[in-house]
Amino acid sequence: MDTDCNVLQDNIKLMRDLDKAIIQHFVWIDQTHKLLICSDEEAQSGYLEEDAHLRCEFGRWFYDSGRDKLNEYPALDKIEKLHKDLHLQARFLIETHNRGKGISSKDFSDFTDSSLSFKIELNNLQFSIVNQICSVDHLTGIWNRQSMIYRLNQEYERVVRTESGCVICMIDLDHFKEVNDRFGHLVGDMVLKRITEICKDQLRKYDSIYRYGGEEFLLCLPDTRLENASPLMERLRQTIADTDMGIEEQPDFRITASFGTTEMTKEKGPADAISEADHALLTAKAKGRNQVVLWQEEE
Ligand code: GH3
Ligand code: MG
Ligand code: MG
Repeated sequence: MDTDCNVLQDNIKLMRDLDKAIIQHFVWIDQTHKLLICSDEEAQSGYLEEDAHLRCEFGRWFYDSGRDKLNEYPALDKIEKLHKDLHLQARFLIETHNRGKGISSKDFSDFTDSSLSFKIELNNLQFSIVNQICSVDHLTGIWNRQSMIYRLNQEYERVVRTESGCVICMIDLDHFKEVNDRFGHLVGDMVLKRITEICKDQLRKYDSIYRYGGEEFLLCLPDTRLENASPLMERLRQTIADTDMGIEEQPDFRITASFGTTEMTKEKGPADAISEADHALLTAKAKGRNQVVLWQEEE
């Protein structure tokens, strides 16, 4: 079973490996400078081969595993190209130096500029991984509450700009404490992950889902009016209620969820919308759970 701890550990290991590879590449850059000043034929050999970029410590890490692990990062191709170009430039500088020719200031500046661009891109990559670690809920892999606030504010700006609707829905699992009490917390965790997968399957590509708290989730459906969200929420509620949670000790175990739904509008920002959705959710609980309540219905 994949646990929250594993996801976090994987990300931390990725950060550590990347950090090590980056430090090694800075050592390589310093060494290149040294080779242009002091002769050292043995040390040069690694620079003059065509596939030097595959053999350096960074290249070994990058092509062995780093590239696959970071394949969603948009600037990865840029990093790969910068790294390869750096090696080509270093080779050119050393060959020029070996031929006894002076290195032009432009060629040397090109190398130092590329080194700087490479460093900047790697810093951006590290920042983006840290940002990802801080934004994601490590049990379910969906956005956590901290990133939710930032993203809902962005969505609200869009609502104001375009005067479109944006539906906010709070979901709370019914009697979830009993799952933990009967089967233990690990099984409870597995159920939370299963519910997350169901929600992700049912939502559209541009919808988003956040872990609001323990067994509470928040959905954000951009470009949607409350009346149009109703069937979608109802279908999601039904799918959750119909799904066997896959608990070994208790085949055919099902769980239900209650939904409180409202809409963000120009006049109603994220904080007010969350408060309304929460209120509607309380009504859903009070009415007997396993149902979708739209905020307007209560007025
Ligand atoms: P209700 O229908 O009124 O919502 O009842 P409930 O039992 O779902 O609500 P309650 O607030 O009493 O209990 C929520 C439970 O969720 C208690 C807590 O232990 C559990 N929980 C919260 N976070 C996690 C988690 O990450 N993993 C597991 N396994 N359980 C969690
Ligand atoms: Mg709750
Ligand atoms: Mg609950």
